Amino acid sequence: MNPSVTGRIHSIESFGTLDGPGIRYVLFFQGCPLRCLYCHNPDARGESGGTVMTAGEVMTDILTYRAFIARGGVTLSGGEPLLQPAFTGEVLDGCREHRLHSALDTSGAVPLAHAAPVIDRADLVLLDIKALEDDLCEPLTGSSSANTLATLEYCEATRKAVWIRHVLVPGYTLDRMRLERLADYLLRFGCIRKTELLPFHKMGEYKWKSLGCSYALTDTPPPTDAQMNEARAIFRQRGLTP
Ligand code: SF4
Repeated sequence: MNPSVTGRIHSIESFGTLDGPGIRYVLFFQGCPLRCLYCHNPDARGESGGTVMTAGEVMTDILTYRAFIARGGVTLSGGEPLLQPAFTGEVLDGCREHRLHSALDTSGAVPLAHAAPVIDRADLVLLDIKALEDDLCEPLTGSSSANTLATLEYCEATRKAVWIRHVLVPGYTLDRMRLERLADYLLRFGCIRKTELLPFHKMGEYKWKSLGCSYALTDTPPPTDAQMNEARAIFRQRGLTP
């Protein structure tokens, strides 16, 4: 690991339980190429904000929590960690040197030319597929799904363990036909260990307002429990584990 490489960090959660297996130190990177309508961290999207830290400083802080995360690990999230490939790669190397499990939480939106050498250094990829088809992905995120799907293909080719994440947004991704197509698409990937279907929520809405931005999903309700169960059943019927 080169401890002097610097990057921009949005925030740190020292006892995360939602982003990967076990109790985890979660590092939220600053900067994201996407513009998801439901973004819960809109203040993490700009590339110039956050706090500049070295990889060495990050590792020193991670190691103070070692006893708590020894059976979980470290998750690099965002924003988009692959937007800072050199820094992210060094932190992943640091985790490996200290025998800490690492997970890379990514949308896969960064081209593989930059992303692949970083993905290679993570133990697990948490791949957030926003939408399979571009007629939905583009209005929902401002971008195509092509890089995300290429990232999944790369993980399959390199046998990288992947957890798929997919947010269910009423009026957008919460759609039986689209969910069936996504589940069918995922079936052929042996690298997928788990599929997580996550309900859309509006906990980040106040951040949009404080940034002076309009929030397009004000009138969109979160999915009901019944809708979530119905969606999970589509995946379960195909042997996927939602
Ligand atoms: S990928 Fe995540 S951080 Fe980036 S815009 Fe979408 S929800 Fe926000």
